[in-house]
Amino acid sequence: MTLPLHKARAPFYELFFSFQGEALYTGLPQIFVRFSGCNLKCNYCDTIYSTIISKKAKYLTVDEVINKIDLLYKENKKKFVFGKPSVVFTGGEPLMYADFLEVLLPKLKRKGFSIYLETNGTLPKKLKQVIEFCDTISMDFKLPSESNKTFWKEHKTFLKIAQNKASCQAFTKCVITKNTTISEIKKSANIIKDISKEIPFILQPSIDKNKPEIQNLYKFYTEVQKITNNAHLMVQMHKIFKVR
Ligand code: SF4
Repeated sequence: MTLPLHKARAPFYELFFSFQGEALYTGLPQIFVRFSGCNLKCNYCDTIYSTIISKKAKYLTVDEVINKIDLLYKENKKKFVFGKPSVVFTGGEPLMYADFLEVLLPKLKRKGFSIYLETNGTLPKKLKQVIEFCDTISMDFKLPSESNKTFWKEHKTFLKIAQNKASCQAFTKCVITKNTTISEIKKSANIIKDISKEIPFILQPSIDKNKPEIQNLYKFYTEVQKITNNAHLMVQMHKIFKVR
């Protein structure tokens, strides 16, 4: 596939090596590719520099991104004890650049990298374009109390597409703040239940001024566990250590 000229480059905020700071892969070394730009504006966003297309964004071609990933792999090879790592596509929202990913991802797969997509789960049509190349999908539920909109229909369609690919591991998470309501949590858990009760749902308490009451966390966890089989309560390590 050849990209039309206007899609041949995408805006990136940064590419770097780090250890995963949240959810099921916490503590594993990975290569991170952060796009600049997002289709949402969540109140708690911790990557505010990447929600708009930052002036610092660099417009890179597919081959330039591959070269940078190869270099990060070489520089950190000793840390990847299990062989080639997964490359985490994050943002911002990576699926805003699905046309670009459609060209990049198969090339990375051929080089032996696996593909880990971090997404806000609101662009199911874009996911369809790249699902065949994804090995792991980490989908956020964007709750109305913090995203100021509802995305229930989009989340459900998105999760169905992710779960239908047998060789892809899909899991879900959401940030819990003092504004999160029990009805939002139940609604999210019921979406999961309708697709598969085994899909993990990770509740991530905010640790800043919006942190939730501890009793609410227990209540939310218990409710999710009643509806699905796979609730987790986990903090985001990178926020505690203030690392990217
Ligand atoms: S979807 Fe993610 S990157 Fe976009 S505004 Fe929300 S938290 Fe920030």
